[in-house]
Amino acid sequence: MPSAFDAARRMIAAMLSGRTSTEVANLTRPDTATPLKPWIRPAKHIEPTFTAANWKTLLGHSGASEADRAALYDARAQEELARYEHNIENYVGTLRLPVGVIGPLRVNGIFAKGDYYVPLATSEAALVASYGRGARLISSVGGCTTGTLAEGVHRSPGFAFASTTDAGLFVAWVCESFDRLKAAAETTTRHGKLVELSPHVEGDHVYLVCSYTTGDAAGQNMVTIATEAVCKAIEEHSPIKPIYWFVEANLSGDKKASAMSFMGVRGRKVTASAELSGEQIRKQLHTTPQRMEQYWRMSALGGVMSGSIGVQGHYANGLAALYLATGQDAACVAESAVGVTRIELRENDRLFVSVTLPNIIVGTVGGGTALPTQSAGLNILGLKGAGNVRQFGEVCAAVCLAGELSIIGALCAHEFASAHKNLARGKA
Ligand code: NAP
Repeated sequence: MPSAFDAARRMIAAMLSGRTSTEVANLTRPDTATPLKPWIRPAKHIEPTFTAANWKTLLGHSGASEADRAALYDARAQEELARYEHNIENYVGTLRLPVGVIGPLRVNGIFAKGDYYVPLATSEAALVASYGRGARLISSVGGCTTGTLAEGVHRSPGFAFASTTDAGLFVAWVCESFDRLKAAAETTTRHGKLVELSPHVEGDHVYLVCSYTTGDAAGQNMVTIATEAVCKAIEEHSPIKPIYWFVEANLSGDKKASAMSFMGVRGRKVTASAELSGEQIRKQLHTTPQRMEQYWRMSALGGVMSGSIGVQGHYANGLAALYLATGQDAACVAESAVGVTRIELRENDRLFVSVTLPNIIVGTVGGGTALPTQSAGLNILGLKGAGNVRQFGEVCAAVCLAGELSIIGALCAHEFASAHKNLARGKA
């Protein structure tokens, strides 16, 4: 068995590669003698003269050429620059990412009801084909059942006090002041509603988890702005003044997988499930219900031993592609791609499969949803605009169910490597 010591020795050999350790150490010291390359000109608004100036810098000082500039130039985006205005700073171009589509994915949900065509933006071969195969299986048995189980987006400001007694007195005041703090939060937004304040005391620090519903928006900006108003109201009215505070003290789960969000909710907690016949599994996935359950048991334990939060196969693949195609914050895949996939043999050669994801944070308004191509993605789904966000959350769960079915089927049928060889490398 290779040891950590062997791995360290190999890494050190690669670092030295013919150099002395003093030469290598010198490479890593702060360098204030060499002149710095020119700064990128910060531009809050998309301003052609700034874009041109930044390209001049890149052409002269980076690895980029005129061909790269042309590659990032998108004539259509240029005509619609105003639509990008609040989504990017220091603009130099537009990335083209291919979009595939799967479906119809039939969803029988509390909120999502119908046949959805799902756009997926990715550069990973086999991803769209795999999710498409799962969607076909789900739809061929009448669709999956979905539900929205909980909602809430949080900010967790932190307050420092002079003593634990002060921290306790502060919590007592907060508990009596919910209406005042809610009113302060809601002066900043029409759709954001402060629904809960949850104080967590650590020594003389208080983390105040502020939970909101955010209408049809994903809501991270909304809750940040509203929570700042809460903090200012606290500063003004609390009889026990914090010595210092921060609007976010990292207990909200924003953009990271956390045990707290896994057991609670961030955005929406959604679930999707289906019961499949052995016949359809054999026909469409080339395996059997028994083998899929065996695989799930072994992979669930593998997940536990690896220390993952939840146990699932590859939620991140479908969610990242769907988030990119519909203008969601792709970084939120870090928190969204956690949950539990469960597979159980049922009577009469049937297989129950479910996914439960507690941190689906998506919007059908706000963020990047109004950008031209992302807006087209939401239109393909039929979920653009107000009134659609709960449907969207459930569709996310249905997409993850499709992905889990397909990857587990491929692993059970020993088709996982050949599918990638075929689709990514062009040879079977
Ligand atoms: P946003 O675009 O900043 O705000 C949503 C806007 O839509 C608000 O002005 C809201 O008005 C309005 N709105 C109109 N109709 C609405 C409806 N039916 N439901 C809800 N809102 C409606 O987006 P956001 O969702 O608050 O924030 C998402 C963005 O935050 C993403 O781009 C993400 O990248 C970014 N983000 C920010 C942070 C942060 O800490 N600031 C962290 C992570 C991600 P009202 O407010 O008046 O209701």
